[in-house]
Amino acid sequence: MKNLAAELAAREAAGLYRRRRTIDGPQGPLLRCDGHELLSFCSNDYLGLANHPEVIAALKRGADEYGVGSGAAHLVNGHSRAHQQLEEELAAFTRRPRALLFSTGYMANLGVVSALAGVGDGVFEDRLNHASLLDAGLLSRARLSRYPHGDANTLDKKLGGSKAKEKFILTDGVFSMDGDIAPLPALALAAEKHDAWLMVDDAHGLGVLGHNGGGSLEHFGLGIEEVPILMGTLGKGLGSFGAFVAGGDHLIEYLINTARPYIYTTATPPAVAEATRASLRLVQSEGWRREKLQALIRRFRDGAGQLGLRLMDSPTPIQPLLIGDAAEALRLSEALLAQGILISAIRPPTVPEGTARLRITLSAAHSETQVDRLLDALGAVCPRKNSRTAEGAEGTKP
Ligand SMILES: *Cc1c(COP(=O)(O)O)cnc(C)c1O
Repeated sequence: MKNLAAELAAREAAGLYRRRRTIDGPQGPLLRCDGHELLSFCSNDYLGLANHPEVIAALKRGADEYGVGSGAAHLVNGHSRAHQQLEEELAAFTRRPRALLFSTGYMANLGVVSALAGVGDGVFEDRLNHASLLDAGLLSRARLSRYPHGDANTLDKKLGGSKAKEKFILTDGVFSMDGDIAPLPALALAAEKHDAWLMVDDAHGLGVLGHNGGGSLEHFGLGIEEVPILMGTLGKGLGSFGAFVAGGDHLIEYLINTARPYIYTTATPPAVAEATRASLRLVQSEGWRREKLQALIRRFRDGAGQLGLRLMDSPTPIQPLLIGDAAEALRLSEALLAQGILISAIRPPTVPEGTARLRITLSAAHSETQVDRLLDALGAVCPRKNSRTAEGAEGTKP
């Protein structure tokens, strides 16, 4: 029998042990955590909507109107008016004919890919895709092929050499642990040339990128012709919970009829859909949140550059500091904690071996003063040595 205690001890020794922290109170720059007040830079609540009064009020009204539980799956009797309206609003927001709610982004990815791809097909994924896209490829039982990060040329060659019946290119829009944006125009060209489907998971782009918050597709001016399958999540920039897939009528009807993680799960509470509707209105009406976020990103990058910290090439609120060694990343995260700053150390297997990092995320809810406090703390705990370790790590990055 598997020796769980020994495996856990080995993880601990390698700096790979994972522990949870308990948070009291809502998300925001200041968190109460295990009795301490911490300044947090690790939430995906990029626009500061998770604790917005209008979103909270919508959730409460939703509970008054619909109660709490949805009662059943969407195809039984769990599909409420609130879900329906949110789907229509998400379709309009993404400028697509239809949108379909899923309970989580993980399930949306599993659902889409396992419904569309199967034995005899080919799934092509960026090496740094989110775990849920990789698991989706595995679950589909299609042949899974991974191309080097952001490398549309290699992808093009792989597609050219493939004998698969149907070909699917899957990519994060914004890479969750690196913060860079996928080269979507080049991926779309490769897809067109080889008659492949292109699916973009825009969990970290939606609400954040593009003038209207339309995400990485709006950022590049791409539409449904170039990217027929768009997946977005509602628990990050939108500050709520859940996910959706947006595309054409046939795609959505096909998913409703065949996507198992859609069919065999209880619909999310309708009140949550009401909350998301409120946050979607704020995403569209309050462009200042994106502008403020961009200003904070510039401030952070300028300051980090002056400190000689090793930033990654990211234009988004995900601003990781590459450390390399997992135990060292953990040590730095704990040193920051001692200064009252919460940043999680991201370690393998979430990121490739030798590329452990501090994943710093910024939010429109942060103030300039808070970003300056972060820079001061980083300056104190991450001396120059930090960039040496990172240099060593670079050679091992795929
Ligand atoms: C968070 C995330 C998901 C999963 O979404 P959930 O709604 O949290 O399940 C999927 N893809 C990417 C790129 C993500 O960052």
